[in-house]
Amino acid sequence: MDLRLSPEHLRFQGEIRAWLAANLERPWREQLRSPAATEDGLIALRRAWQRKLNDAGYLGLDWPKEWGGRGATAVEKSLFEAESAHADTPPIVNFLGIGVLGPALIHHGTEEQRRRYLPPMLSADEIWCQGFSEPGAGSDLASLKTSARIEGDDFVVNGQKVWTTFGPWADWIFVLARTDADRYGGISFLLAPLTTPGVTVRPLRQITGESEFGEVFFEDARVPRANLVGKVGDGWKIAMTALDVLGPGGQLLRSSAEARGDVDWAREFLLSRAETIFSGSSEVQRNILAKRVLGLREA
Ligand SMILES: Cc1cc2nc3c(=O)[nH]c(=O)nc-3n(C[C@H](O)[C@H](O)[C@H](O)COP(=O)(O)OP(=O)(O)OC[C@H]3O[C@@H](n4cnc5c(N)ncnc54)[C@H](O)[C@@H]3O)c2cc1C
Repeated sequence: MDLRLSPEHLRFQGEIRAWLAANLERPWREQLRSPAATEDGLIALRRAWQRKLNDAGYLGLDWPKEWGGRGATAVEKSLFEAESAHADTPPIVNFLGIGVLGPALIHHGTEEQRRRYLPPMLSADEIWCQGFSEPGAGSDLASLKTSARIEGDDFVVNGQKVWTTFGPWADWIFVLARTDADRYGGISFLLAPLTTPGVTVRPLRQITGESEFGEVFFEDARVPRANLVGKVGDGWKIAMTALDVLGPGGQLLRSSAEARGDVDWAREFLLSRAETIFSGSSEVQRNILAKRVLGLREA
């Protein structure tokens, strides 16, 4: 196998490098460390960077062109991630929308849903958060209890989500809710504005001093049936498709950044424990590898 970059890849790499050199405003990290820095300021900075990337056609790289993406290959996407890490770009604000929900809508949503939700997701006009985990359902996500009862043209949602990244800043939440008692087949995937009556968001303060995530409570919150992705009971299948999408991209960005000398090491250290938990804890990832890759069975 020839692992060398093709002339076309090298041209794309050069294009990204030149664009980043011309468009990345420095020093954004110093801005954040200043005593005047606020979390709202960080969100504004991430939103502005995302808009710049979107205007230049560098968002949703592997999404189809008809949905605002670039139709890029996996190698091109990796080149973009590596160059961004090397240039030390700010993270985008809507990474959960673009990394998790966007691909889910492209694969499982209706034409109308894609038309409605994808453009403001890319332009950062609507920020999304992910409502999967609950106080009693993390690693064992399928034991989730938040319920969605069909009543007329609505789902009536009750329950609690937790560790909701960007909950305090998001406009919308994509939620897994139980429409039936069946463990996997009874979960549905819903889209809800966080301004829906009956939805309350409470920020959670982290060890780093930030409140990047929160808890979301649903009390008889009415979500229109039109906001269901896929069919009733398709939620588990859709969630599993969406979570394979995020993993390797995140690792590439992190490992490249580690080589830099100007990383905020204290913050990275404090966050590192969280990285062994979210998107599935290390133990649970090892269980999946043991079963699916090594073919081992539980004793
Ligand atoms: C920074 C951060 C951001 C997050 N963002 C979001 C978000 O935006 N949206 C969202 O829905 N969730 C989010 N989460 C939640 C995350 O998905 C859960 O924390 C994770 O799935 C683990 O669940 P838990 O915390 O309930 O721990 P538990 O599931 O209670 O696990 C506790 C411990 O038991 C171990 N364990 C559990 N089951 C097994 C098993 N079968 N075999 C071996 N060991 C096991 C785990 O590895 C862990 O060490 C986030 C979490 C963090 C830390």
